Amino acid sequence: MTDIRIEVSGLHKSFGSLDVLRGIDFTVPRGTSTVLLGPSGSGKTTLLRSLNVLDTPDRGIVRIDDVSVDFSSLPAGKAGRAAAQRLRGQSGMVFQSHNLFPHRTVLENLTEGPVVAQRRPVEEVVAEACVLLDQVGLADKASAYPYQLSGGQQQRVGIARALALKPRVVLFDEPTSALDPELVGEVLAVIKDLASQGWTTVIVTHEIRFAEHVADQVLFLDGGVIVERGAPGQVIGDPLEERTRRFLQRIL
Ligand code: ADP
Repeated sequence: MTDIRIEVSGLHKSFGSLDVLRGIDFTVPRGTSTVLLGPSGSGKTTLLRSLNVLDTPDRGIVRIDDVSVDFSSLPAGKAGRAAAQRLRGQSGMVFQSHNLFPHRTVLENLTEGPVVAQRRPVEEVVAEACVLLDQVGLADKASAYPYQLSGGQQQRVGIARALALKPRVVLFDEPTSALDPELVGEVLAVIKDLASQGWTTVIVTHEIRFAEHVADQVLFLDGGVIVERGAPGQVIGDPLEERTRRFLQRIL
């Protein structure tokens, strides 16, 4: 098996006449974290959603582990949908807000997907879910309901829920931007933990200090292209491009 977990080449996506992704190429080695930085509207979320096929690219290739889809020649109808579905199954997505099922317990929120969608045995799924809850520091909340948890705890359940599906990669779309400032740290700590345990992650965030600590690679997007890429010490610490510098000055 190759050590490159994600490989994206020539990715394009438009919404009507708006070209949002204009030829994106990058790779993510297994067990590493890639942070996407860039101004609002630069295409970060669309790129993340394209990896998970929540948005369908117009052109280009996405490969995650052993599943590859060439969107330039995606067949119409059922075959195309099946290919997209296989690719989607390779990644778990964590959104800005967790979207937990409000009438299910924390444990049920984790087990629903693996049991219903993946048809895996309940006992095994429950045992794994308990381990995941422990990992995100919520072992004692298994029978709580989402409304009984803080926003940070809910988001940690959201992360555990994404992991319960055993994805090849985990995609985070601004996972802390809907949280009160005092709850941000606990969620970032969980994400950092996952990264150090060898999960492959792609993270859209405006938390620059966190990005510096967690990222193996930073991609700086502007206008639907990757303007600059490299180790955080370079892209954040000593950017080459004027556009990157201006962006960092605005948010630091
Ligand atoms: P970022 O995450 O960097 O803020 P996005 O990927 O969310 O950027 O958006 C890039 C551009 O694409 C924005 O101009 C946004 O308004 C537009 N866009 C995103 N999703 C849609 C959509 N479903 N329909 C139309 N325009 C969209």
